[in-house]
Amino acid sequence: MHCPFCGAGDTKVVDSRLVAEGQQVRRRRECVKCHERFTTFEEAELLMPRVIKSDGSRQPFDEIKLRGGIQRALEKRPVSIESIEASVTRIKLRLRATGERELPSRDVGEVVMQELRKLDQVAYVRFASVYRSFQDINEFREEIDRLSANGEGQD
Ligand SMILES: [Zn+2]
Repeated sequence: MHCPFCGAGDTKVVDSRLVAEGQQVRRRRECVKCHERFTTFEEAELLMPRVIKSDGSRQPFDEIKLRGGIQRALEKRPVSIESIEASVTRIKLRLRATGERELPSRDVGEVVMQELRKLDQVAYVRFASVYRSFQDINEFREEIDRLSANGEGQD
């Protein structure tokens, strides 16, 4: 965090508190060189909602697992790492924006599916088939028909 007054690279935090309903951390900082004070608003990285599994147990949000699931769905698909990372960031923002402290894993899955659908339709169907565990082949086919009917994400 550079000082906005003299550009020094070294500042110390003199006060820190949660604001915006816990979505942000407000920090008072002081430059160690010119001693000017300034305020920063930083994203509260640790405040992802916890995930409620189908058996009722709670788990911390696992970004590595999320990225792994997305990458598996996108295996051999023409999608760049940058696009995947942008999606992961959007998913995290959307989950945080719910303002909930705990979210059912089903809701997390729905957000992931919406993002995958924008990214790559094959990956979306792969992920959805595992996540929603389609009851039978007809349900699966209906989903694919629905996708090709609205032609979303195709150019
Ligand atoms: Zn300074």
